[in-house]
Amino acid sequence: MSSPEAKSPLHAMSIDVEDYFHVAALSGVISAEQWGSLPSRVEQNTERLLELFDNHNVKATFFVLGWVADRFPQLIRKLADHGHEIASHGYSHQLIYNQSQETFREETLRSKKLLEDIIGLEVNGYRAASYSITKDSLWALDILSEAGFTWDSSIFPIRHDRYGIPGSPSVPYSIETANGNIMREFPLTTASVMGMAIPAAGGGYFRQFPYPVFRYLFRNASGFGDRPQMFYLHPWEIDPDQPRYSDASWFSRFRHYTNLDRCYDRLERLLQDFRFGTVSESYNAFDSDKTLLPSNQMIRLA
Ligand SMILES: [Zn+2]
Repeated sequence: MSSPEAKSPLHAMSIDVEDYFHVAALSGVISAEQWGSLPSRVEQNTERLLELFDNHNVKATFFVLGWVADRFPQLIRKLADHGHEIASHGYSHQLIYNQSQETFREETLRSKKLLEDIIGLEVNGYRAASYSITKDSLWALDILSEAGFTWDSSIFPIRHDRYGIPGSPSVPYSIETANGNIMREFPLTTASVMGMAIPAAGGGYFRQFPYPVFRYLFRNASGFGDRPQMFYLHPWEIDPDQPRYSDASWFSRFRHYTNLDRCYDRLERLLQDFRFGTVSESYNAFDSDKTLLPSNQMIRLA
């Protein structure tokens, strides 16, 4: 087993703890009302990830969906007991820019308190469902900071049909929110190839590109070892035996089902090729002067 280069940066390993039926790509064929009656696989899949990280001595950040925490509190407690960082993935997995500010505030407070009651620690980090903090929902950063969150990892510096603020920074930075609070932001990874921003953060991109291509893009994004990057995966992405929805669109099936059977082994290779820690560890280890951007400037960028 090769070990990661000692001088490589400490990248952030993150898992969005949700079930296969919570995913936006399948929302056209599975309604939120059905969730409670579907066979859940999130606990067993998350346990497999926990074991893999423990075997490789890697601490990760788990962004837990409130819906999952409500049903599997013992799983969340176990993750925290093993030294992993617990952060919030909201409660209902609805896209923020489709929610009212009142609904978002209510579910943000509810999901934060739920996790804190389970683990007995303060929860400071947040990731939006489907990275849905965009120029249309920057108000979410105000609500997050008022709720006591100090850092976020929801902003993808790319153009995409569901998310992204193109032109926003591709390394950890800080945002001054409209109400004057400071929110630390750890953006999702993009590589730069021939002047184009290519997503290289994990998830579907990790499964669809051949592993050596993904590894190259992740190295490229880190400036070939200069700066930390964000990796993410979902528990269902290592589960080829999950129920399949053949009535979803071709594109949704491609996004959701490609290479599920190869993903676990690829993740193990990734853990051998790079150094990983929690989001907070990685952010704090990155000691170059972090940019501070006022949120109104983020709007101009988009
Ligand atoms: Zn999610």
